[in-house]
Amino acid sequence: MTSNSYEAFRAEVVAWMHEHLRGEFEPLRGCGGLGDPGYDPKLAKRWEQELARGGWVGIGWPREHGGRALPLSQQVVFHEEYVRAGGPGRLGHIGETLLAPTLMAFGTPELQRRFLPGILAGTEYWAQGYSEPNAGSDLANVQTRARLEGDSWVIDGQKTWTSWAYESDWIFVVARCEPGSQRHHGLVMLLVPLRHSGVTIRPIKQITGDSEFNEVFFDGARTEASLHLGATGEGWKVAMALLGFERGVSTLGQQAGFEREMEYLIEVARRNGAARDPVLRQRIAQAAVTLDALRCNALRVLAQDGAEKGDVPVSREAYIAKYVWSNWRRDFGRLAADVLGAAADVTDDDDPAAQKLRQVWLFSRSDTIYAGTNEIQLNLIAERALGMPR
Ligand SMILES: Cc1cc2nc3c(=O)[nH]c(=O)nc-3n(C[C@H](O)[C@H](O)[C@H](O)COP(=O)(O)OP(=O)(O)OC[C@H]3O[C@@H](n4cnc5c(N)ncnc54)[C@H](O)[C@@H]3O)c2cc1C
Repeated sequence: MTSNSYEAFRAEVVAWMHEHLRGEFEPLRGCGGLGDPGYDPKLAKRWEQELARGGWVGIGWPREHGGRALPLSQQVVFHEEYVRAGGPGRLGHIGETLLAPTLMAFGTPELQRRFLPGILAGTEYWAQGYSEPNAGSDLANVQTRARLEGDSWVIDGQKTWTSWAYESDWIFVVARCEPGSQRHHGLVMLLVPLRHSGVTIRPIKQITGDSEFNEVFFDGARTEASLHLGATGEGWKVAMALLGFERGVSTLGQQAGFEREMEYLIEVARRNGAARDPVLRQRIAQAAVTLDALRCNALRVLAQDGAEKGDVPVSREAYIAKYVWSNWRRDFGRLAADVLGAAADVTDDDDPAAQKLRQVWLFSRSDTIYAGTNEIQLNLIAERALGMPR
């Protein structure tokens, strides 16, 4: 790609965002996502549909699945300019970046035709049904059961910490389909409708005051017999492949979001005098330096051939990424609270930048837990990147 066409693409994204993130969508500008005050999920879904009409969903998907097959360099530009323009957190993220590539890798053509268009159009939303009360880090301890009855799977059990379930239409569920099976044997990955009489969704109130995640109970819930990814009994393989896609190009959107939070932090520090505090300003500078290093690491992981599709062996660079960004964000949350000072505890002031930082402070406590806790990441680095025994 020539630098001219590269800049033309950047200009296209900037112009589109300028033209479309306005009017009814103005309240979403700069919103992080669910759990962020002012993030209206109904409006966020209409925004997803607006993005879809503009051709900005599935930009890296292959053309045969309705995507634009854009090269990585353009995907990077899109994510950067999207956040720079104030684009809100993406409600379609789980469907677009986790389920869709897994469907392309493991789904039958019928399943792909049935589910990819709804993701691409922003009309169907997905939740991730992995964790259970006794299966988090130890996912192989999944106890949710699924049995075939006529032309349906019947599901009983419970998932928990299920992000966005309340706002979703479907959930992919890791369930035990072979009675008596142990650990990672005898599992199946099912696609289950959430709006069903056998499914109860109970929001969990979080420290932020919102309920981004939920408990999901299955009591004789049903889904069609054909709605499983990969072979029955081999759900573990599918579940692990899906986690691999979490390292993909979507991390760039997250990275750009951190950069926006850094801008809020500097804005507040300048305004409230924290920028003159010799210790705080050094901590801010240090956070900015590490953020740059994180960006470089994200880009070198993605530059590995095939990394965006999640189909290369995981490199050392990829193994360290989650551990480093999540600890950076947790410390950044602490820094945000220190820059805010007493305002970190005030919940009713309406300074938007301070509100954002307060949200970062509270939500960042979870960064070292989801998508693999700190301890699990260190175990993976020790065993898989450094070759130590299990
Ligand atoms: C904001 C948020 C959103 C989430 N969204 C989803 C979602 O959408 N779908 C979903 O399925 N799940 C979701 N989760 C759940 C998340 O995946 C789990 O919280 C995570 O896997 C940890 O599991 P756990 O909470 O059961 O903790 P546990 O696994 O019980 O861990 C408790 C502690 O023990 C440590 N520990 C456990 N095993 C080991 C070990 N072998 N060696 C050393 N230390 C160990 C852990 O590091 C941790 O400190 C979400 C979590 C959060 C915080």
